[in-house]
Amino acid sequence: MHISEHIHQFHITKINSYYLFISNFDISRCFQIFVVPLCITLKGTTPSLSVYPLMKTYFAVKGRLLTPLVFAFALVGILFEGHIRQLERKLNEEYERIEREFFRASKMLTILDYSLNNYIKVRQSLRLAHTTEIVNGVCHMRPKLAVTDDGENSQAHLQALEYIIVGDKALCDRNSTLHHEVGFRIALAPVISLLHDLDEYLIGVHYIDPSGYIISSPDTLSINVTADMLEKIQSPSWDVYQNLREDQLIKVRGPTVLQELQSTERLVSLMLPVYANHQFKGVISLNIMLDKLLNANQRLAGRLHFIDTQTTSLPENAFQPYSLRDAGISFHHTVYYDMNWWYEFCQFVSLKRSTLILITLMYLLAVTFFLFMNTRHAKSYYEGLAVRDPLTGLRNRRGFEVFLERTPHQSYVAIAMFDIDDFKAINDHFGHDVGDDVIRYVGDQIRCHIRTTDTVARYGGEEFVLYLTAERESHLRKTLLRIKDALSEESKVVVEGGFTISGGVEIVPCSELCDIDAILKSADEKLYIAKESGKNQLIF
Ligand code: GH3
Ligand code: MG
Ligand code: MG
Repeated sequence: MHISEHIHQFHITKINSYYLFISNFDISRCFQIFVVPLCITLKGTTPSLSVYPLMKTYFAVKGRLLTPLVFAFALVGILFEGHIRQLERKLNEEYERIEREFFRASKMLTILDYSLNNYIKVRQSLRLAHTTEIVNGVCHMRPKLAVTDDGENSQAHLQALEYIIVGDKALCDRNSTLHHEVGFRIALAPVISLLHDLDEYLIGVHYIDPSGYIISSPDTLSINVTADMLEKIQSPSWDVYQNLREDQLIKVRGPTVLQELQSTERLVSLMLPVYANHQFKGVISLNIMLDKLLNANQRLAGRLHFIDTQTTSLPENAFQPYSLRDAGISFHHTVYYDMNWWYEFCQFVSLKRSTLILITLMYLLAVTFFLFMNTRHAKSYYEGLAVRDPLTGLRNRRGFEVFLERTPHQSYVAIAMFDIDDFKAINDHFGHDVGDDVIRYVGDQIRCHIRTTDTVARYGGEEFVLYLTAERESHLRKTLLRIKDALSEESKVVVEGGFTISGGVEIVPCSELCDIDAILKSADEKLYIAKESGKNQLIF
């Protein structure tokens, strides 16, 4: 073997020592907890015994439980992230739907405006049959059908015509100007009646005329209108009339709670001014129940909210706010999702229940597998520990005996006992650590010089026992001498000045290997002779 390879071997031994040192740091600890158990599991081998202190970490149950847990959490995290992306897509769809519904409502208003303009232009006052009644100084006019033979049928028609006209007391007087004026608009009432509940979220449509009356559908919407209210609608300065110029788009008013409805439902009103010959004639208004419009999708964990950005600012938890746009509506409103992370997580759990159960099962399976592998590796490690020397990773005395029992021998077997000369001096001069390095170096070098069918064991301090087998005795002699010379020659690599080796060798035919103790004793005696007769030699 080339000298550079020896140096490389030596560095590997060194690296093991550094590894022990580094293991005190946290980053290496993370590595030990997560990566090392994985590597062992995948590699399926017991790590080198020279890193013995790390083995405690290898077998740490904590790592076995945490590794799959980290993976499981990462998986759940990825799934949750996907859930949020899906929520964003759903919200975009919802915003598009809301815009579509507003567009539909604006179309209704435009149709009503068109019809009303025509009635105004035709100037034909219709005298439809109505019942009139004065309630608290306010005239209520309701549709009345001509009496037919089929009473039930007329009742059904009446229910379909669900509108009311409320106005000043004068409205109930068939000869009054107001009654006559209403006749120009009355054709609008059945159309309003048709449109007012065409969609689920619509709560009513009404026409407010500044001359002092309101046509409403359903009738409940205006039933509570008071004389004061009627006075208000006749005033040009009434706030509802503001910004309702001829060239103006549909105005959005709200969200508000209409007292007239005696409910807490939040509404938004779309208002379209009616102009004929550039003269303001009145307002057509359409009320939308916000909650029904916004939260039609029951699969969302949170709720959608609608705010007027001119009067209200966005709350902190507003998720994915969207400013509504429509060519025909003057919007200054934003829709947003009221995000509550906990509710969102609960929704995620209920939607992905089966996938989460699968991940939990996979986690338990992985933990069981890791613990099983842990037990297996711990067992093989401790078995290895009984037959190996922790400093060099070589076999110990017990390991050497086990090897001899199991290995097939060739014709001749050499049992050699090697001992470093004057090792005490190395320890004394360079310190115990360098002494350890020398022991590891010698062990590694012998291991490199012998074949895989041979072995080397550390028998004590700096004593090594070598087993070599071959078909010829001379081959064994040559090999042992070569090893001894190579060790001495290259010893300067590990310690200044180098060192020499002495050894006692017993070569026997394999049939005489039965009494190994006697052979070892004989090799030891020869080692003693080698030491006594000048060291740095092998006695055969
Ligand atoms: P000799 O040439 O006669 O062999 O002289 P020596 O100095 O090598 O004498 P001996 O073999 O008796 O010395 C063994 C020394 O090795 C004594 C002990 O302090 C040291 N030793 C034993 N085990 C270890 C070890 O694990 N590490 C280190 N650094 N020294 C050890
Ligand atoms: Mg010695
Ligand atoms: Mg010794």
